[in-house]
Amino acid sequence: MKNPNIYASRALDRAGHLRRDDDWIRQRLADRSSRILAVWRSRSLVLEGDMPRTVLLDPEQCLAAASPTRVFLGLIGDVAHFAIDVSHHAEPPFREHGEFHDLRQVGPRMAPGDGGMIAFARAMMTWHHRHRFCGLCGAPTESVQAGHVRQCTNPDCRTQCFPRTDPAVIMLVHDGGDRVVLGRKATMMPGLHTILAGFVEPGESMEDAVAREVYEEVGLRIADIDYHSSQPWPFPANVMLGFTARAVTFDLNVDYNELEDGARWFTRDQLRNSPEDDTLRLPRKDSIARRLVNEWIEGG
Ligand SMILES: [Zn+2]
Repeated sequence: MKNPNIYASRALDRAGHLRRDDDWIRQRLADRSSRILAVWRSRSLVLEGDMPRTVLLDPEQCLAAASPTRVFLGLIGDVAHFAIDVSHHAEPPFREHGEFHDLRQVGPRMAPGDGGMIAFARAMMTWHHRHRFCGLCGAPTESVQAGHVRQCTNPDCRTQCFPRTDPAVIMLVHDGGDRVVLGRKATMMPGLHTILAGFVEPGESMEDAVAREVYEEVGLRIADIDYHSSQPWPFPANVMLGFTARAVTFDLNVDYNELEDGARWFTRDQLRNSPEDDTLRLPRKDSIARRLVNEWIEGG
C-alpha cells in the first residue's frame, strides 16, 4: 500500500463499536485524560507558527463552551478524542489556547498527519449543520450514537441519516511520453493549473467517471486508467480518488463552461521549472493532485 495522503488519519482508531455505548461516551466526555478538538464555523483550533499544530483541550477546559454537538472521533492508544462544535458563540472561544483557522489555509503548512483529525472533525460538523431536518418528513433531527447518526425526532418517522462523503475522481492524464494535461478554472488562484477532476455520478463506476470527465472537460479519449490512492478532502465532504490515465487522442477540445481558462499540455521540464507565480503554479502542496504531478515529474 502507498503512503497515506495528507489528511488521512491512520493514527486514530475510530472504534465504531463504542459509539452506541452511551455510558462509556458520557464517562469519557467527563474524563480529564480525554482530548477535545473544537470547531468554530468550519475552522479548527490551532497554534499558529511556521508549522501550525492542532490544539487539543481537556473536558474541563471545554465546559463553559457548552457545545450542542459532540462527536466521538476515536482512540489514540487509550485516550478518547472528541470534536465539539462551538459555532453558536458569536466570537471564537478558547483564545488563550490558540486561534481558529480553516484547514484550507493552515493545512499545507502542518506536519504530515497532523491535519487528519481536523479534516475528520470539519467534515462531521459540516454534515451536522446541513442535516438538521429530516429529508423525508421535514421534522428536526437530533444527534445520536456519539454524533455519527442524526435521527428524525418525529416518532412516526425516526428515519436515520448518516454522514456523507461524496466521491470525486481526480486524474493525471499523460500522453505516454513527456506531456501531461493541466487545466484551470477562472476561480482558481492566478497561474494555478491542476489535473482534471469531477464527481462520480450515481450508477457509475469510478473508472467510467474518469473517462467521462476527461472527455467532457478536454475532449480526450483515454486508456490505461489506473487507481493510485485516495485522500479525504473535507471541503466540504469529499473523498478524492486519484488515478492516472494515458491519452489515446491528443487534440484538446476544452469545455469552457467547466474550465473557463482552458487546458493545455505541459512537459516535465515546464512543470519541474514552474516559477510558482501568476504565469504558472502547481497544485497546492497538501493535495493528491500535487502528489500525482510530483510523482509523474519524477518519472512515475
Ligand atoms: Zn422524519
